[in-house]
Amino acid sequence: MLNEKIEFPEIIQGTIGYKFQNWATTYSCEPELYFEPTSVEEIRQILELAKQRNKRVKVVGCGHSPSDIACSDHYLIQLNKLNRILQVDRERKQVTAEAGMMLSDLNEELATLGLALSNIGAVSDVTLGGVIGTGTHNTGIQHGILATQVVTMTLMTAAGDTLECSDTVNREIFQAARLHLGSLGVVLNVTIQCVSAFKIHLQQFPKTLTEVLNDLDTHLQQSEYFRFFWFPHTDKVTVLYADHTDKPVKTSSSWLWNYAIGYYLLEFLLWISAFFPRLVPWINRFFYWLLYSAKVEQVKRSDKAFNFDCLFKQHVSDWAVPIKQTRTALEQLKDWLDNNPNVQAHFPVEVRFVRADDILLSPCYKQDSCYVNIIMYRPYGKEVPRETYWAIYEEIMKKNGGRPHWAKAHSYLRQDFEKIYPAFHKFCSIREELDPSGMFLNSYLEKTFF
Ligand SMILES: Cc1cc2nc3c(=O)[nH]c(=O)nc-3n(C[C@H](O)[C@H](O)[C@H](O)COP(=O)(O)OP(=O)(O)OC[C@H]3O[C@@H](n4cnc5c(N)ncnc54)[C@H](O)[C@@H]3O)c2cc1C
Repeated sequence: MLNEKIEFPEIIQGTIGYKFQNWATTYSCEPELYFEPTSVEEIRQILELAKQRNKRVKVVGCGHSPSDIACSDHYLIQLNKLNRILQVDRERKQVTAEAGMMLSDLNEELATLGLALSNIGAVSDVTLGGVIGTGTHNTGIQHGILATQVVTMTLMTAAGDTLECSDTVNREIFQAARLHLGSLGVVLNVTIQCVSAFKIHLQQFPKTLTEVLNDLDTHLQQSEYFRFFWFPHTDKVTVLYADHTDKPVKTSSSWLWNYAIGYYLLEFLLWISAFFPRLVPWINRFFYWLLYSAKVEQVKRSDKAFNFDCLFKQHVSDWAVPIKQTRTALEQLKDWLDNNPNVQAHFPVEVRFVRADDILLSPCYKQDSCYVNIIMYRPYGKEVPRETYWAIYEEIMKKNGGRPHWAKAHSYLRQDFEKIYPAFHKFCSIREELDPSGMFLNSYLEKTFF
């Protein structure tokens, strides 16, 4: 809600009375002032004003993080007006864009240039600055988290200086900034390594969890973007292969029809199950049968194949375990749920695989990883019990050397991060150097760094 605009001496305008809510409406804040700058100079003035008044600053992307990572009680900046492509290097297939650009817009612009991103997550209504902020990932063991596609970044530090970093310039800052948590400064521009535009052949087919875990190495080699959905309270799995193809675009209309109906039915049935929780295993089985037990093949433009519709609100948690722990972690979770029928888990548990990298706070730092994403929907906004499921899941992930997704709420604190991230202290000293007064901190980051 926008109430009143306040003008400051130079060119900046701040709004009071703005309320921010994240996409899942699970976290919110009411910043003292909210800004939508239209130039780098305006950002500099906002930081200057914050410094003078001893205020903290947070940049928000699309607010898709299911946590309070983007919240601020002081100044909140949205970069939705800094969302253009700045430069295209056709020969190198590299594109420089402003950090407020949404991937949905970038995907369209790249398509007109005959280019694409080699990998993106499940949604594109997120910003470049935001996906690099939290380590957004998809799947494919030859592919790193999205930030591994970044070639150069430009930040504005708390001092109001612009700072460029890449593999050759300010290398250590680059290793930190590609998963910055909004803690190093305002990300202004990002140069990304793109690839030639491509289509993806999607294949979906049924298996059991045991079969998939037995053949994991084969699946990882067989499909470039292999992942699978496991349906808790059952041993049923849908394997999803996704691979480059030259075949013409083809969608499965009968599957799409079931999918559209299924979504509305699912929300209704989940709402009923909030009163009769024992229905959840039946709902999981029914939707497996309706949507995921048949073989389906489709061909889509790459970004459309990576994305899918997340139509209603949900809680999620997503930890990465070293890839060799995949079997143990999933079997422990399955055994626990099988032995505790009073605890319900919605489908799917989404299992994805990501290549190791050298980004200081990446959950895949120096290790190929398996992400296990759990979900509990909030049908028509209704909360359903999830505390026990969440606690057991986290305990299992921790036992297996897991690292939590930074965007998604978790229970880890500084002392835990010190143990699981060999380069944690290095990141802290870079942060302290770039932001000595803690201008970019908020309560999420205080729990992380103090
Ligand atoms: C429906 C849905 C599907 C999702 N699918 C996936 C998925 O497949 N894989 C996955 O890994 N994640 C997924 N996510 C999580 C999502 O990708 C991350 O939360 C991502 O960070 C959201 O981007 P955003 O632009 O909304 O950033 P926000 O949530 O708005 O911000 C994220 C962080 O970046 C900071 N930030 C943003 N822009 C800047 C900037 N310019 N300068 C400095 N700091 C900045 C913010 O302060 C904050 O710390 C999903 C989330 C939803 C709701």
